[in-house]
Parts: sequence; structure tokens; C-alpha cells
Amino acid sequence: MATCDVLVVGAGPGGGNAALQCARLGLSTIIIEDHSEVGTPVHCGECISEIACDNLNLELPDEVISKQVNGIRVIFPDGTEKCLTERGYVLEKHLFERWIAEEAISAGANLHLNHKLTSMERIEENGKFSGWKCDGKGENFPISTKIVIDASGVAAICSKIVKIDEDNKLNSGGKVVAGMQYEMLEVPTDDYLDFYIWPKFAEKGYLWMIPKCDGRANVGLVTEDRPMAKKSLDDFIESTHFKDLEQVAPPWKNKGNPAFGGTIPISGPFENTHYDGLMLVGDAAGFTSPLFEGGSHLALKSAVFAAQTAFSAISDGDLSSNKLSKYSDLWGAEFPPYDKILRGKNALFELTDEEMSIMAKCFPDEMSDMGISGKAMVGFRLIIRKPSLFFKKIIPAMLAFGYSRAKYYGW
Ligand SMILES: Cc1cc2nc3c(=O)[nH]c(=O)nc-3n(C[C@H](O)[C@H](O)[C@H](O)COP(=O)(O)OP(=O)(O)OC[C@H]3O[C@@H](n4cnc5c(N)ncnc54)[C@H](O)[C@@H]3O)c2cc1C
Repeated sequence: MATCDVLVVGAGPGGGNAALQCARLGLSTIIIEDHSEVGTPVHCGECISEIACDNLNLELPDEVISKQVNGIRVIFPDGTEKCLTERGYVLEKHLFERWIAEEAISAGANLHLNHKLTSMERIEENGKFSGWKCDGKGENFPISTKIVIDASGVAAICSKIVKIDEDNKLNSGGKVVAGMQYEMLEVPTDDYLDFYIWPKFAEKGYLWMIPKCDGRANVGLVTEDRPMAKKSLDDFIESTHFKDLEQVAPPWKNKGNPAFGGTIPISGPFENTHYDGLMLVGDAAGFTSPLFEGGSHLALKSAVFAAQTAFSAISDGDLSSNKLSKYSDLWGAEFPPYDKILRGKNALFELTDEEMSIMAKCFPDEMSDMGISGKAMVGFRLIIRKPSLFFKKIIPAMLAFGYSRAKYYGW
């Protein structure tokens, strides 16, 4: 039977980085990926902030960067535009994920493609937990490991198998939103990511134009109205300047419908993200930013915390849930308060289109650093324009934008 210190499940950004960090710490590491290659199908708008790259010590090679961007422009229902200026990148995300996986392999990790985890059996020695026997589809199974890092994305496979928490949010009907996009050509851009908060097309979500190199762009949406996602995106394109632009399949996709996307967990971090010999990272732990649903920065960072915790647990010969609780402490101290941001998001979507647009007009043109005086000015303008709005939780809604900045893991 193959054996290792750490088995990482899934080779997305969370899994790739978990394997890289574990291997760098000298742990024998196996990373398995269900698909036949890393990075595809892409299920991401592909943007990541410069702050995220600094925070993660990522020196992106040129080939994974499609475009450098200046920040986010939020476009409200009446067309009012406000900016969150902070630099970042639009990636060729499949190449980015492959690069991280290759870095992990160079650091000593073993990658097994076409390997799908389906079962985990607890191993005990003298009544003490000593690891997992993992099985599934793939020629290198079964694999015996001291610690499993679940980076399986929205599938959250390990917490389903092990049932670490009966109230686990995804297992007990936690919510996901649908995301879908097209690659379009000759899309005009001034190097901002355009985020349209237009509830008529994207219920409790938003639409985007994310520019890439050579005039390419991802034009897409996330919406809670999952069955209508494709129609809503088509209707949005039909009623905007995107209407006459050509839609193409992205370079990595050579058959089927050009639309691509996936689902994103939106119920927040799981109550339990660790167990005996098990840690959940990235989407598999429910880590996404509530307003704009970015998850790569959170996945990559949670992977760092999981690797550090695995190293300490294996060094001390204690793989217990109690020992691995350090992981939950680490992300809990670092990641922004999910419920608070969610309250802001909910307050935003309780507003009518007209109210949202009035609120937007009261914001300064640059929302990235409002400060106390900026927020007071917004309050003052609201009282003058529409006093009743002042009492409709506008302040939490405003804070939700602030918490969507890169320094709060928004992207
Ligand atoms: C349409 C859309 C647009 C988005 N845009 C952005 C954006 O612009 N910026 C941003 O930061 N975030 C964005 N996100 C969110 C982002 O894509 C995720 O948060 C991020 O990919 C999470 O990384 P992860 O490693 O946790 O999971 P994933 O990237 O989902 O990787 C999980 C991997 O595990 C594999 N896997 C699953 N089950 C098993 C199994 N049983 N055995 C083995 N392997 C398995 C999967 O095949 C997959 O490769 C977007 C999401 C969607 C759907």
C-alpha cells in the first residue's frame, strides 16, 4: 500500500498550495486529482489581487498572467459607477493551477491524476488514532496517510465521508450559487474588472466583465436563481454593449457549449474544519468571500495554515482533532468575519434597484479607502437625498463593499 505523511485531495489552488507547502516542510506528500489534467475545466473568473500574491509569496511566472488590472469598478442598476482601485491580475487559471502543482512536484510531492477519493477508513494503534486508509478510483489506491487535507472544492468529499459534523453546512443543505461565463472577443476595457450589481439579471449575485489579454474577456454571472443562470446571462449580454461581440470557447475547451462555470458555496465556513487527521481547506471548508464570491485567495491561504498544522502534528506525533484545532484557530484569527459581511450583503439585496442606485450616488467615486470621514459623508448625503434610506441598513451594505477588498481576502 502507498503510504505518506499527507494526502491532499484535489489539485485546485487550495490543494496545489497545500501539497507545495507540505512538501517544502519535508512531509512526504501525495496529491490526487479526479480529472485527467490539473486546472480544467476552469470554474473561475480568474482574477487574483496583487495583495493576495504578496500575502502568499507568489511570484507569478509571466505565462500564467493574462492581464494586469487596476481594480474593480462596481456598476449599479442605474449605471452609476464606483471604483475599488487596487491592482491585481487576471490569470490563465488552468496554467496557474498547473504551475502550483508543478512547484509542488519539484518540492517533492507526488501527483496522481485520474484518482478520485471515495472512502476513508480510520486506522488506530493501541486505541490511538494513527491515520487514514483512503480508497477510491485510481491505480495507486489504497493510500495510507497520517493526515488528509481535503481540498476537493465544493464537493467537500471528506466531510461527507467522515461526517465530521452532523450539522455540517454543505451536508445539511448549505447553499451554493451558480456561476457561468463566456469568453468574448474584442471587448473594450480600461483594465478594470467591471462588476454589475443588476439584480434583474443576477438574483442576489452580480455580473462581470473580466478583461484578459488580446481583447479577450470573461463575461459572466453568479446568481442564486440557478436554473435561470444561462438564460439570465444571455439576456444580460443581449441588452448591453456585449451584444454584438463574438463568443468563443476558451483555449482549454475543445468541445461542447462555450459556456463554462460551476458552483460556489455561500453558507460560510463550516462549523468544524478539522477532525482526527483531517483538515478542510478552500471551498471544501466553505471559504468564499460573501459579496463577490472570490475564493482563490482564501483557498491558497488556508492551505498554508493546514500545511503548518500538519507539520507540527506529525513532528509531535499527535494527529488528534485536539492538536489539529490549531488549524481552525489560525484561519479564525486571520479571515474576515463572514457573518458580518453576509449581513451587509443581505442588506444590500433588500434594497430596490432605485434605492441601490441612490445609495451608490452617495458613495465617493473611489470606495477603496473611505475612512471614518468618508463614511460620515455617505451618511450625510443619504440624509439629504433620501432620509428613509439611512435607516435601511445602508451602513452594513456599505461595509460589505469595504470587506470585499483584497486585504480582507475579497480577491
Ligand atoms: C464561475 C466562477 C467564477 C469564479 N471567479 C473567481 C475569481 O475570479 N476569483 C476568485 O478568487 N475566485 C473565483 N471563484 C471561486 C474559486 O474558483 C474557488 O473559490 C476556488 O477555485 C477554490 O479553490 P479550491 O482549491 O478550494 O477548490 P477547486 O478549485 O474547486 O478544486 C477542487 C479540486 O478537487 C478535485 N476533486 C473534487 N473531488 C475530488 C475527489 N473525490 N477526489 C479527487 N479530486 C477531487 C476537483 O476536480 C478540483 O480539481 C469563482 C467560482 C466560479 C464557479
